This record gives sequence, C-alpha cells and structure tokens, in this order.
Amino acid sequence: MSKKDALLFLDATTISVVVGCRDCGHWRAFAWSKLEGWAVAAAHEARVHPDERAAQKALHMALKRHRDTPTPPE
Ligand SMILES: [Zn+2]
Repeated sequence: MSKKDALLFLDATTISVVVGCRDCGHWRAFAWSKLEGWAVAAAHEARVHPDERAAQKALHMALKRHRDTPTPPE
C-alpha cells in the first residue's frame, strides 16, 4: 500500500468487510462491500481524525473504480 500506514483499514472477506481504525482500537464498523467500507471509513476519519485524508482518498479511488466498472448486461 502506501509508505505510511493509513489509519483506517478494511478487512475484507468474500462476504463482508470489517472497517477498523489503528487509533481507535475498539472501533469497528461492518459493511457489505469495499466501497461501502471506505464510505464508513471516510466518515469516521472526517469525524474523529479531521487532519487525515487517506480514507477519503481511498473512497474517491473506490468510487472511481466503481464508476469505471461497466454494468453487466441484464
Ligand atoms: Zn479512529
């Protein structure tokens, strides 16, 4: 990943995503997708760690990837 470990991280399995924060050891959030996970992570970061931007950047990257993914035909 990046040179400096980001505060927020996702622990993704095949069925779910757990969001954690290295500064808030007790804090965990649950999401169904990485995109949702980064949205939760970015919200936590903005609320609790307003000086950090890593999760918000990751969310923007995830949103971009999501947008660029072609919708499969019905
Ligand atoms: Zn935190």
